[in-house]
Amino acid sequence: MITNRKQRPISAEQQLLAHHIKPTFQRLKVLEFLSKSCIHPTVDMIYRELVATIPTMSKTTVYNTLKSFVDKGIVSSLMITGTEARFEYVRQSHHHFICEKCNSIMDIVIACPHAVKRSVGGHTIKEQHGYFKGICADCAKKEAVNEAV
Ligand SMILES: [Zn+2]
Ligand SMILES: [Zn+2]
Repeated sequence: MITNRKQRPISAEQQLLAHHIKPTFQRLKVLEFLSKSCIHPTVDMIYRELVATIPTMSKTTVYNTLKSFVDKGIVSSLMITGTEARFEYVRQSHHHFICEKCNSIMDIVIACPHAVKRSVGGHTIKEQHGYFKGICADCAKKEAVNEAV
């Protein structure tokens, strides 16, 4: 679901208009896809999903659309894998967990003492990013099964 900054549900079209972005068909589809996704997809993943039903979709369009969404603060890009940008629809801030085996990125909701403060050590906080790296529950389970065999 798409929500505005006050966490109220709005349509994809309203969200784009509120950010002075022309709501073209392809931009709406990219935004709708991201708002439903929880896998923090790459440009490639988004493109492959959308081109299956929208043959006119191009990778360049997906890329340019994401860039303008990030510029306007509708979407955030995560660079935590070190090799590729992953994208997510901006909701309340949260931490991430990245699995070094399967490369999945999951949302982790933890209370961060700095989240409620607006500054740290005299520096003004505008954004916060935090992540953990390790083995996800699924991969840990698979490893346990393999070792048992
Ligand atoms: Zn994993
Ligand atoms: Zn996230």
